[in-house]
Amino acid sequence: MKVSAALSTGELLHCPGLRPGEAARLQRQLARARRGGNRRARVKVRIARVKTREADRRKDWIEKTSTGLARRYDLIRVEDINILGMTRSARGTVEMPGRNVRRKAGLNRSILGSGWGCLVHRLEQKAPGRVEKVPAFYTSQRCSACGHTAPGNRESQAVFRCVACGHTANADVNAAVNIAAGRAVTARGGTASAVPVNREPQHRAPPLVDV
Ligand SMILES: [Zn+2]
Repeated sequence: MKVSAALSTGELLHCPGLRPGEAARLQRQLARARRGGNRRARVKVRIARVKTREADRRKDWIEKTSTGLARRYDLIRVEDINILGMTRSARGTVEMPGRNVRRKAGLNRSILGSGWGCLVHRLEQKAPGRVEKVPAFYTSQRCSACGHTAPGNRESQAVFRCVACGHTANADVNAAVNIAAGRAVTARGGTASAVPVNREPQHRAPPLVDV
C-alpha cells in the first residue's frame, strides 16, 4: 500500500487502494476477451465495480482522516503544493520537455491517487481557520534536527539521512516536522520566518505532509 500522508508525530497515514493485482488481472482478462463477446461485457462490469469500490474507499478514508485530524490538532500545517501546476510541468512542452519528467509524473500519480487535494479541502472545511499551507521549498532536504539543508540528505525517496549530523528518519516524516514547525526554507537556503499563530498554545503538535 502507498503512504499518502506523513504526520510530524511520525504517523504514516495510508489511503486504501485496490488490492494489488486485482485491477491488473481484470485488465488482462479484458485484453484476452473477444470484442463484442459476452465475456468482455462481464469483465467490463467487474472493472467498473472495482473502480467504484476504490473510489468509495478513498472517499471514506478522506472523511475519516480529515475528521480525526481536525479533532486532534489545534493547528494543521500542510505542505502547499500546486497540484495543477505540477501536473502541467510534469508533462512539459515540446520546446521544454522539462527535466525529471518521470519523477514528477510519478509524484503526480501518487498525489492524485491519494486524493491529497481532496484531503486538504475537507480539512479546511472541518477545521476552518486552522489549516495553514506552508510552501514546500526544501522541506524535504532540510534536516529537522540540525537544520542543515542539502540534496545529499535524501539517501533515497524513503530515507532521510543528514550528511551533517547523521539524523535519520523517514523522509516524509522529516519533511512533516519541518512543515509543522513552519520552517519552510527559502530558495536561498535561509529559513523563512514562521507564520505567527493566533491560537491556543499547541500542546499537541501538528501534522503533515504529502508524499
Ligand atoms: Zn542534521
